[in-house]
This record gives sequence, structure tokens and C-alpha cells, in this order.
Amino acid sequence: MAAIMKEVGLEKKSKGRFVVFEGIDGSGKTTQTQLLCQRLASQGARIFATREPTNGPVGQLIRRILSGSLSADQRTIASLFAADRTEHLMNPESGIRHMVDSGTIVVCDRYYFSSYAYHSQYMDMEWVIQANQLNADILKPDITLFIDVDPQICLKRLQTTRNHLEIYEKIDIMKQVRANYLAAFHRLEDQERVVVIDGNDSVENIANAVWSQVCLLMQQETT
Ligand code: ADP
Repeated sequence: MAAIMKEVGLEKKSKGRFVVFEGIDGSGKTTQTQLLCQRLASQGARIFATREPTNGPVGQLIRRILSGSLSADQRTIASLFAADRTEHLMNPESGIRHMVDSGTIVVCDRYYFSSYAYHSQYMDMEWVIQANQLNADILKPDITLFIDVDPQICLKRLQTTRNHLEIYEKIDIMKQVRANYLAAFHRLEDQERVVVIDGNDSVENIANAVWSQVCLLMQQETT
């Protein structure tokens, strides 16, 4: 293992890490997930990049709902996300928990804070937190990196890069979702490690801010 892994002693530990990116659509999560994974891989780390909703059967159903081709009650959608997440964690071949336990750094684009932020538009956030309690008991992120970008900027980015916007990609919803994220971070500040990163910056500066946080995390023992 090269520099940073040696420097921080990761190669001595058997356990990996679970790093989550959160943010509204268009905030740069996909971009930063790729850059972080490239950087970790170049240092010799074993990494796995993944995202929610997953590509599994429940995740595919969710995607059809998000695209607008199927409709469902918001409580159904929230429950599907929680079920997709449990499978994402526990799948015997590609499950996140097994990977982290066996030394892989898993970088995930969206996890349960997305549920808290998106579904609490329609129902009490406490209900959504409860619906995901099983997932939180299975695995909490070692760190959640929230890429915080002005919703107007995100919408502009989406409009220039996509032909079709999903059901939550409207300015009022995006503003509300950002506010819900901040409320969820406050609500769970005693239980979760969340870092808010200014995403109204260049891709490179954001990637460096992310890297600093990940290096700090690597230097700490896992429980
Ligand atoms: P998300 O996965 O959060 O929806 P993406 O990473 O797909 O966001 O980024 C959305 C769009 O914005 C893409 O076209 C991407 O190239 C662009 N983008 C990402 N980060 C930045 C940035 N810091 N500055 C300007 N454009 C960006």
C-alpha cells in the first residue's frame, strides 16, 4: 500500500470504511464519488463505489417511480427506499456491510439522510428515521459528506445536462430538501458524523476538501 495508507496506518487495520456523499440533485455527488475513488485507488486502497437507489430489483422499481413512469404513495416510496437499503447492506455478494468488514472502503452516493430529506417533505421525519432504524443498526456511515450547493445552481446544471428531470427536480422541492437535510443533521448531530462541504466551488477545490476529511477519517481507529 502506498503513501496515505501507510501514513495513516490503514494497512494495519482489517476494517474498511463507509463514506457517504449526500446532496440535492446536481450538487456534484457523482463527480466527487468518482474523484475520491480514483484518489483512494491510486493510493492502493481497496474501494467499492456504489449508489442508491441500487440496481437491484427494488432499486429498479424505485427508479421507475422517480422517472414518473409508475406512481406510488409517498409512504410506499419511503418504505421501498428503506428495503432497497437493507438489501444494499446485507446482500451476501455485494453487501456493504460485508465489504466494510473485510477491509474495503465503500463510497456510496446517497444513503439514509437522503430518505430523511426527501420523504420528510410528505411525512414526519421521525417516521422516516424509524423506518430506517434497522439500517442504522446494521451500519452507520463512518462519515457523511454533504455537498452543499445553491439549489438554483443545481437546477441550472441539471437543465443543461439532462433531457428529462425526475419528480423531485423542481426548484421549490430542491430548496425544501436542502432545508430538510440541514434539519436532519441537526436532529441527529449526537449520533452521526456529518461534514458540510461548500459545493459552490470548483470541482478541484471540493475534491481537496473531501480528501482532507477522508484522510482525517483514515487516521482514526474504527470501532
Ligand atoms: P449529482 O450526482 O449530485 O446529481 P453530478 O456529479 O452528476 O451531480 O453533477 C451534476 C452536473 O454538474 C454535471 O454536469 C457535473 O459535471 C457538474 N458539476 C459537478 N460539480 C461541479 C462544480 N463544482 N462546478 C460546476 N459544475 C459541476
